Amino acid sequence: MAPEHFPPADLPEIAFLGRSNVGKSSLLNALVGEKAAKVSSTPGRTRAINFFALADQSQRRQLAFADLPGYGYAKISRSISSGWQAFIDPYLATRPTLRLCVCLIDSNVPPQESDRQLLDWLRAAGREFVVAATKIDRLSGNERARNLLALKNGLGVERILPVSGKTGYGLKELWAEIEIVIHVNQ
Ligand code: GDP
Repeated sequence: MAPEHFPPADLPEIAFLGRSNVGKSSLLNALVGEKAAKVSSTPGRTRAINFFALADQSQRRQLAFADLPGYGYAKISRSISSGWQAFIDPYLATRPTLRLCVCLIDSNVPPQESDRQLLDWLRAAGREFVVAATKIDRLSGNERARNLLALKNGLGVERILPVSGKTGYGLKELWAEIEIVIHVNQ
């Protein structure tokens, strides 16, 4: 999983991160539909980073999505120190074309230490990120507001985009965030 195994860094790239089972695959499928072509997968079945090349919504720009391995539930400090950092760090630390990290958290689950650690890491590294709360379709209006507020407070973020890969809720807003960063000339 060393940077030399990543595909060429020639397109603006968006990384998707989240704990296992957060709904990342469902969201990526909903965001991308059938338009993406998988360009590469780094070795290891469960711990691979999958890279996809695709066009933006306006079909004018090429971009890449990087689907990072889901990180674990429990025993966080151990998994962070041994596994998680070891395979996600090199990517986040070195990828020159990375424009935005989409950090997924489950809207049905209280704030988690592992998510907080990821956000702290991104802040320290100066990486731009947006937080999206998945599976929002499972919550009623009241629960939605309550859970989103708890997540904002717990994770120390001002804004969380509610999304659902199942119903498509919030995908337009998420695409809009992506469009902004890929159209910035760097
Ligand atoms: P991943 O491990 O992060 O890739 O998560 P998956 O996309 O495989 O989803 C994990 C589980 O959550 C599956 O049982 C999905 O059916 C369910 N799920 C994912 N996205 C949604 C969503 O937007 N709404 C609902 N209700 N369930 C979802």
